[in-house]
Amino acid sequence: MRHVLLAVSGPSGVGKGTMVKTLISRRPDVVESVSCTTRAPREGEIHGKHYFFLSREEFERRIAEDDFLEYDEHFGNYYGTPKSFVRETLKTKSVIMEIDVVGSLNAKKTFPECVLVMVVPPSLDELKRRLSGRGSETEAQIENRLARMEYELSHKDLYDYIIVNDDLEKAIADLSKIIDGE
Ligand code: 5GP
Repeated sequence: MRHVLLAVSGPSGVGKGTMVKTLISRRPDVVESVSCTTRAPREGEIHGKHYFFLSREEFERRIAEDDFLEYDEHFGNYYGTPKSFVRETLKTKSVIMEIDVVGSLNAKKTFPECVLVMVVPPSLDELKRRLSGRGSETEAQIENRLARMEYELSHKDLYDYIIVNDDLEKAIADLSKIIDGE
C-alpha cells in the first residue's frame, strides 16, 4: 500500500487535533509528523516526540540545506516540517501534519503529492459556541480567532478534501477513508 502525506488544517476549535490524535491511536499505520522548532521545550515536552528542539543556528543551517518541506516563524521562533523525517516515515507509514493554511500551501509546493484536508465546523455559529465554551479565551482572543478562521476558510477551494466536523466519529471515519482512498 502506498503511504500518504496529509496536511490537516482548519480553524482553531474545530476539533482537528482530537480527530488526528484519535485516528492515530486507532491506526498503527498512521503517525503524526514531528516538527522542528527553535523555541524552548515546555515542561513535559520530549525531544523527538513533541518537537525536535534546535538552536537557531542549526535551524538556519537546515534551511540553507533545503531540509524543510515548509517552515515559518511564529512569535519570534522558527517552526518547520523536516523533509528527512517525512521521507523516512513515509517508507512504512502515512504521515499527518496538523498545520495552518500557509504551511499547507507551502508544503504542497515542495511536495505536490501532499494531500490537503480542511476541517470545517457545521456552521460559524457552532464554532463560536465551541470557542466560547472552552472558557480559556477572552472575548478579544475569540474575535481574533474568528478573524483568523475567516482567513483560513477563504482558502477552501485550494484543498483536496473538506471534512465537516459535525459528528466526531464520522469526521474521523472520513479522514481514515481519505488515507485509504489515496
Ligand atoms: P507552539 O509553540 O504552541 O507549539 O506552536 C506555535 C505555532 O506554531 C502553532 O500555531 C503551530 O501550529 C505552529 N507550528 C508548529 N509546528 C509547525 C510546523 O512544522 N510548521 C509551521 N508552519 N507551523 C508550525
